[in-house]
Amino acid sequence: MSTECLFCRIVERTLPATVVHETETVLAFRDIDPKAPTHVLVIPKEHHADAATMASADPALAGEVLAVAGEVAKLDGVDASGYRLVFNTGSDGQQTVFHAHCHVLGGRGMTWPPG
Ligand code: AMP
Ligand code: ZN
Repeated sequence: MSTECLFCRIVERTLPATVVHETETVLAFRDIDPKAPTHVLVIPKEHHADAATMASADPALAGEVLAVAGEVAKLDGVDASGYRLVFNTGSDGQQTVFHAHCHVLGGRGMTWPPG
């Protein structure tokens, strides 16, 4: 793990976060700048730069991230109303933290197309 990486530091617990769910391989915590009533980031504990890189290197881990995203939606009570999963990737995708993460957004109606 790289201590230069913000999300690796959250995994190491050297940077605080509001953790909502955790498994052996995955951590879920609230986004520091929420864009919806539910805005949780689900990350692999192992460092991968983005979602596709993670899925290529370890497909099972990518599946675990998605499964935890669904659990988080249930825990926050947005599973019935619906929610959005987002993996921003690269510059045009507006990715700012280069440790793979799934945004779980819910608790309000989303718009389409995204900005
Ligand atoms: P992205 O722009 O897709 O790379 O998403 C990165 C997300 O990480 C943004 O929504 C930020 O608000 C969020 N973020 C940045 N630093 C922290 C932090 N220390 N704790 C929780 N969320 C963070
Ligand atoms: Zn990292």
